[in-house]
Amino acid sequence: MAQANLHIDLDAVVSNWRALDAQSGAATRTAAVVKADSYGLGAGRVAPALYQAGTRDFFVALAEEGARLRPHLGEDARIYILGGHMAGDAGFLRDARLIPMLNSAEQAQRHLQAIPDSPVGVQLDTGMNRLGMEAAEWQATAPQLMERGIELVMSHLACSDEPEHEMNAKQLTEFKRMTDGMGLSRSLSATGGILLGPDYHFDVTRPGIGLYGGRPFDDARHVATLSLPVIQTRVVQPGETVGYGNTWTAERETKIATLSAGYADGIHRVLSNITALYAGDTPCPLRGRVSMDLLTVDVTDLDTVPDTLDLLGPHQGVDTLADLAGTIGYEILTSLGPRYARNYAEPTA
Ligand SMILES: *Cc1c(COP(=O)(O)O)cnc(C)c1O
Repeated sequence: MAQANLHIDLDAVVSNWRALDAQSGAATRTAAVVKADSYGLGAGRVAPALYQAGTRDFFVALAEEGARLRPHLGEDARIYILGGHMAGDAGFLRDARLIPMLNSAEQAQRHLQAIPDSPVGVQLDTGMNRLGMEAAEWQATAPQLMERGIELVMSHLACSDEPEHEMNAKQLTEFKRMTDGMGLSRSLSATGGILLGPDYHFDVTRPGIGLYGGRPFDDARHVATLSLPVIQTRVVQPGETVGYGNTWTAERETKIATLSAGYADGIHRVLSNITALYAGDTPCPLRGRVSMDLLTVDVTDLDTVPDTLDLLGPHQGVDTLADLAGTIGYEILTSLGPRYARNYAEPTA
C-alpha cells in the first residue's frame, strides 16, 4: 500500500487537555478548539474523545463545522461558532443548537430577527482588530442582548505566545473594562493565555494547539506521527543527481529511498534538501526537491531500510518541522492532506 499513515494519539490529546485544565482553578471550564477538523487531525474522533474525558465546551470557526460536529457529541455539549451568525447560518444554528459568538451589531440584529430564542455569545475586540464588537458597539448592543441572556462573552489575545509582550496586559485591562460587573460568563485565553496565569483564565479557556502537541505548550505530549511508505530504493553514484531541477548531487555512493507523499499532502516544498525523516532514532536526510506525491531520502547509513520512515514523530514534532519550513506548527498540522490514512489510538483511561 502506498498510502501514508497519520497516527493520532488520542490518549495524548486527552492528557494534554487535562494538563491544560489543571493549570486553571476549579471555577474555570476548559474548552477545546476543534476548528478546521481539529487542526487537521479529525474532529469526528478528537472531539468525542475529549467529550468522554469531560470537555463540554467546543469551539469551531463556521456554523457548517458546528453542524457536522453536533452528531459526534452528547446533548449537553456546547458548540460555539467563532465566526458568529452569518447570512444563511440560521438553519444550522437552530437545528444543531449552536452558539454563535456575535461579532457585530449587524450580526446581533440578524440573529434577533431570525432565531431570537436561540442562544448567543458575544465576541469583543480588545485590540487585535480581527473579529468582535468594539467598545461603543458593545455598549449599544449589550442591553438588548443581556435582556435575553448571553451564554459567554469572549475576546482573543494577539500576542499570548510571547509572555513578556505588553499587548497581553493591555488586552486584559480592556477586556475587564468592557465586561466587569456585568455578571457574564467570560473567556479570554487560548493555549498561550492559559500559560500567562490565573489573571487570564476567567470562566472558560479555549486551548487548541496545546491539545495537539504544539507550542507554546512546551510540556505537551506528542500527538501526530506521520509515516511514509518506501516505494522503491536505488543506489546513485557520485556525481549523479536526484529529483526535479537536479538540486542535489551525490558526493558518495548513496542509497536513495523514494517515499509516497509530497507537497499535495501538505509537505511544504520549502523543506526540499533541509529536513530529515526518521527510521526509528536515525535521521535520514531528504535529498532533492519535494515533489507532488513523492520524496527522496538518503538511507545510505541504515543497515536495513524499513517499510516506512517518519516525517513527524517523537524526534521531530510539528514545531521542529515548522521552524525548518519557516512557518508555525498550526500550519504544518492543518496542511496534512486528505490522502493520509488517519489511524487513532484510543485513550487508555
Ligand atoms: C484558534 C483560536 C483559539 C485556539 O488557539 P490556540 O492558539 O490554538 O490555542 C482560541 N480562540 C480563538 C478565537 C481562535 O481563533
